[in-house]
Amino acid sequence: MTTVAAYAAPAAKAPLERTTIERRAVREFDVLIDIKFAGICHSDIHQVQEGWGEAIFPMVPGHEIAGIVSEVGPGVTRYKVGDRVGVGCMVDSCRECDNCKAGQEQYCVKGNVQTYNGIGKDGEPTYGGYSQKIVVDENFVVRIPDGLSLDVAAPLLCAGITLYSPLKRWNAGPGKKVAILGMGGLGHMGVKIAHALGAEVTVLSQSLRKKDDGLRLGADHYYATSDPKTFQELQATFDLIVSTVSAPLDFNAYLTLLKAEGVLVNVGAPEEPISLNLFSVIGGGKTLAGSMIGGIPETQEMLDFCAAHGIGSEIELIEASEVNTAYERVQSSDVRYRFVIDTATI
Ligand code: NAP
Ligand code: ZN
Ligand code: ZN
Repeated sequence: MTTVAAYAAPAAKAPLERTTIERRAVREFDVLIDIKFAGICHSDIHQVQEGWGEAIFPMVPGHEIAGIVSEVGPGVTRYKVGDRVGVGCMVDSCRECDNCKAGQEQYCVKGNVQTYNGIGKDGEPTYGGYSQKIVVDENFVVRIPDGLSLDVAAPLLCAGITLYSPLKRWNAGPGKKVAILGMGGLGHMGVKIAHALGAEVTVLSQSLRKKDDGLRLGADHYYATSDPKTFQELQATFDLIVSTVSAPLDFNAYLTLLKAEGVLVNVGAPEEPISLNLFSVIGGGKTLAGSMIGGIPETQEMLDFCAAHGIGSEIELIEASEVNTAYERVQSSDVRYRFVIDTATI
């Protein structure tokens, strides 16, 4: 066991504070990672606040982890000391079900082991990336290509893969009109990745205050959803809409923006249910779909894609002591566009 400095919420809704946690000794197939940077995902906030239901405390959030391998177990073949690596939302899964075998561990039928707010196969609670070290089985570790700095790579481990996976699955590319709903941590990655895939990209944001950034990051068009004219002008426009919004939305209104047989993929995870009029999908033969992060092989593919296209996250690097203020800013849609903790400051 190793004692490691961390930032934790001691109880639901409590501010995060410095503490220490124990990391297990490195086992046969484990990798010990010196964490350098950890992104702050809105999911961290939902879970600290128990917005999705009962959670495990103390909670060390963080599932956008970038660091350097500092020790490997005797059975490890894929990584060596000094390698640049990342860990996302999962640290284990059953590895036997059809989804795990297909590299879709995020949909493990027995439930994957979440990087934090989970219980590992050893029965111990998992603790995430707001800490200085983590021990992870090598099968749930990915390689960060040399072309990507670790700080801007960290958010790719959740925000990046969460947008890459549905954009690929629903064929964002040349000739496709794609809208990204919400210009936050996930949304700005969606703009960059959809643009790199060759799609015509529109941002749908509550206001125009981030318009210059959206256009600079690769959007072709930018509209405010607070303006009712937006819904008239963009009716039946998009092949694909990806919603990254963290609050309940009127999906009926957004479905009108799809072409016939278009797809609205929701990746946002609001704490309350939404109301859907099924005529919104019957008319036009539309699809309302969901998507959750991506599997380990696709996460590696996404990192390689991002490195090849020079895509990192737009980040605000913070000290660990600023995490509670950062949470407030994320909640007021005031992040540009991902807070990343420099774990040396923990
Ligand atoms: P974020 O940085 O806070 O971005 C969310 C964006 O949604 C905001 O920037 C804002 O964009 C928009 N928004 C927020 N409140 C809104 C409201 N009331 N009405 C309309 N738009 C609103 O959060 P994030 O880290 O990107 O995460 C977004 C959501 O995805 C969270 O619920 C998170 O838990 C979830 N998530 C899901 C997955 C998955 O696998 N499916 C993975 C990671 C995160 P504008 O300012 O542009 O309007
Ligand atoms: Zn996340
Ligand atoms: Zn499984």
